[in-house]
Amino acid sequence: MTPPDRIRIVLVGTQHPGNIGSAARAIKTMGLSRLVLVAPEKPLDIEAHALAAGADDVLSAAVHHASLADALADCRLVLGCTARSRRVALDELLPRDGAARAVAAAGDGAEVALVFGRERTGLSNDELQLCHAAVHIPANPEYSSLNLAAAVQVLSYELRLALLAAQPDDSGGAGRADPPASHAELEGFFGQLAGTLDAIDFHKGRAPDSAMRKLRRLFLRAELDVREVRLLRGILADADRMAMLAGQRR
Ligand code: SAH
Repeated sequence: MTPPDRIRIVLVGTQHPGNIGSAARAIKTMGLSRLVLVAPEKPLDIEAHALAAGADDVLSAAVHHASLADALADCRLVLGCTARSRRVALDELLPRDGAARAVAAAGDGAEVALVFGRERTGLSNDELQLCHAAVHIPANPEYSSLNLAAAVQVLSYELRLALLAAQPDDSGGAGRADPPASHAELEGFFGQLAGTLDAIDFHKGRAPDSAMRKLRRLFLRAELDVREVRLLRGILADADRMAMLAGQRR
């Protein structure tokens, strides 16, 4: 079981089956798959399946429970998503912080639930009492209630970002494979660059300091890794060789 397998999305008392289909799609696009339905008002219908689009598998695998307590029985972390702040004594988290807590707990082997309420009335205070913290999407305070599936999408996206950030960097993503160049390696490169600029008569009688300062700033900003320094030094070596050949010809 990987961390995403330990995270379930729980929809309580959903009134529109279409929203359940859209929620299935939302969670599948973000690499999650566990949908739990607590006493939906109506059975899944053709609209639910149409809105699930390619996420029929998630919809069909959805687990049904008669009560929220049953759906959460084995969970060690439960986050309740609310469209407005309530007078329940619960910590209120931003989606990003809630997702970080959820992914950390799932990484430790805990079962985790994110709970979403009914379209019309949200979660009851009794249902919120079953949660360890509330999560509120900081929407327009005068119009803060998102469509149920849209709220599921926002939280699923934050979960995805947190899951990606928690992964070791072997995904071919933004992480770099080569170690950053050391101070000595960069100074070796700058020394060679100065020599090559002389060899190709780049400065043409001007003092080289100003150009070198700008080039240093440029290359330091690039945070070169060892392989990139090697590549640049290879280019300089070839430029040196061409300058020498040109000198011999003259
Ligand atoms: N009128 C209801 C709105 C329910 S919207 C109410 O005021 O509670 C359906 C569900 O979507 C909510 O129960 C909640 O789980 C989720 N949701 C909608 N907007 C949200 C927001 N801004 N932050 C967190 N969850 C939200």
